[in-house]
Parts: sequence; structure tokens; C-alpha cells
Amino acid sequence: MIRRLLISTWLLLLLAACATGPSVPARQACEASSFTLVDDFAGARRGRCAATGDNEVRITILPESDGYINDSAWFAYKVVPKTNATIAITMNYRGGHHRYKPKLSYDGIGWSALPDEQVRVSIDKRQAIVTLPVDDRAFWIAGGELLTPPLYDVWTTKMASTGQTRPSVLGRTPGGNPITLLQSNNEAKDVLFLVGRQHPPEISGAVAFFAFYEALMADTALAGEFRQRFHVIAIPMLNPDGVIGGNWRHNLGSTDLNRDWGPFRQAETQLVETLLNTLDSEGKRIRVFLDFHSTRKNVFYTQNDANPTDPPHFTRIWLENAKPRIENYEFNYEENPVDNIGVAKNYMYKRYRIPSSTYEVGDETDRAAIIAAARVFAEELMELMIAQF
Ligand SMILES: [Zn+2]
Repeated sequence: MIRRLLISTWLLLLLAACATGPSVPARQACEASSFTLVDDFAGARRGRCAATGDNEVRITILPESDGYINDSAWFAYKVVPKTNATIAITMNYRGGHHRYKPKLSYDGIGWSALPDEQVRVSIDKRQAIVTLPVDDRAFWIAGGELLTPPLYDVWTTKMASTGQTRPSVLGRTPGGNPITLLQSNNEAKDVLFLVGRQHPPEISGAVAFFAFYEALMADTALAGEFRQRFHVIAIPMLNPDGVIGGNWRHNLGSTDLNRDWGPFRQAETQLVETLLNTLDSEGKRIRVFLDFHSTRKNVFYTQNDANPTDPPHFTRIWLENAKPRIENYEFNYEENPVDNIGVAKNYMYKRYRIPSSTYEVGDETDRAAIIAAARVFAEELMELMIAQF
């Protein structure tokens, strides 16, 4: 009996081995009989891949660096069908867990989350199996919308065409990619400073950033008055190398940029430090700082009463003013002591004693709700800055 069991196990293993095609590394097309899985585009992360049947592949999603990395297991790949079929993609995670709902796009612009019944996640979240029918259309599957530098460039051009903001290049990354800087009204002494996309997979925070900045540049009486009074400085994407690489967290230097404000060991953060030094030498006063991110919920992280800001309680007043105007977007603000971790919020508080917040958006928060809320947050911030400075 035991012997028969052993033989059948051995046979099963042999059969499984026969069904498995050659395993290919990342950045090489992975062929099943009915489709090809490619990862040759900006933002891709697919990892090693092998066909496990005519309509099935297995991929290994890995972070970009060894050692500890934040559990934000980004994935992005393109499916190019050869025939109509129902296909299955088994995603095995190493160094992290399934976190982002797989989303699908046929054109790279419109995205929708796959229905839950098409995504089977293991109890330990180390594996997710995506099953779906395909026709002759190619499509992308990713942990979130592919908001990569080419799309940012289109957006920047659109913003510049309003005549309200001037783009320039703050500097280049080790990967040779430009970091875009947006400025409006350089004549004003008081500054609002915004930063985005330090962390590559944090798409919902990027959606908030775009809507927030558009509200600041809008053709409204409030935004017009605000721009008369304040110099708005924005760095929409501080980590283009990480975004292009489909990284979970780091830049090319295997570093979390949002732990490097203060040490400034990375080229990207050094560019920020130089900019801050220049602003100081010009007699500018940064009044408010916001850094856009994503996490598992909508929350603002800011200073507590042990770390008073100038003006006092500014962030609390701002968010309380916004709250009654916001629907379908639950959020909190969490006031914490300022510690020695090199996050942007801490550094900017310690350097300037200003209201300084991390604007966190839930990974899966409804995109229309993010946009509507960001507009209100921007409007209430403008009102309060006009009133208080
Ligand atoms: Zn983040």
C-alpha cells in the first residue's frame, strides 16, 4: 500500500514536470500555448515565469532588493493572447504577500479591478491565481494603474498649457531619468511644498496628488487668489527609477527614499536638499509641506501637541474644515511625536517647525472619491493658508 502510494506520487511529479515549460527569467517573453506573458515595459514586474499547461503559467513576484522591504508586492505584466481561451496565471510571492487587487486595462488608460471570483488568494497570501477568459485583445494586469513617467509627462504638458505652472528638471536620477519640478509664482515669498511618488506602487496617492495639484492651478477665484499669494512648488515623482523598474519600494540605490531625508545619501534626496538650501538662501519661507503616499486606509500623519507647529494646530483645523464637505471618503488624522526616522514629514518639521503631513490614501479607495476629496482638501488648504499667513 505504502509502495503504491509512493509510486503514484512519483508519477504525479513526473506528469507535473512534463507539463511545465522552460522557466524564463524576468524581461523575457514567457510562452504558453494560448498566450504570451511579457514584462518589457516601464513599471513591469513579473519575475521568473514558466508555462504549467496550455493555458497556464506560474510566475514568481520578487522585490527589487534582498533583505527587509516593505510588504507592498507590486506586479505588472502584459498578456498577449494567441487564441480564445480561459487562462490562469499563478502568482507566487517571495519576500511579501498578495496586497493589491489585480486590475486590468486594454488601453493603459482605463482600469478596472478583476472580480473577486477571478482572483483566488491562498490563506497565507503567498499565492494568488488569476483566471480569466481572453480573446484577441492584449491587455495589462497590474496592482494598480500604470502611472509611469510618460503619463506624468502628458499630465505636466497639460498643466503647463494652463499657463499657471512652469515645469523644469530638478535633476537626474542615477538611472538618467529626469525629476520634474513644477512651480507657480516664483515671486511670492511664502511657499507650499508638495512631493509625490517616493514609493513606486503607491498609485492611489498619485491619483490624489494629480487632483490636488489641479485644484491649486484651477481657473477659480480662490485658486487665483492663492497663486497670487503663494509660490507653489511640486515634485510629482521623486523616484522615477523605482517606478520604471516596477519596484516595491526602493530607488536604484536599494534605498527607501522616504527614510533618507536628513542623511541625504541618495541622488534624488540630495536634489531636494539642494533645492531647500536654495530656497532658504533666497529668503523664501516654506509654510506647509505635504507628501503623498498610499497605505491600507485613508489617513493623514502629522505632528502631535508635543511638537507645536507654526501656526498652531494648523493641520487639525484644515482637516476639520474639510471633513463636512467630503462624502464617500472616510479618513482620519493621526498625530504622532516627531521621531528620528528620516521620513520627509519629520525632516520638514524639524527644519522649519511647519505643518508637515503625510497624505496617505487607501490602496483600493475608489478613484472618483479620491479625486473629489483631494479637491476639497486643496480648497480648504488654500482658504486656511490665505487666512493664516
Ligand atoms: Zn509610501
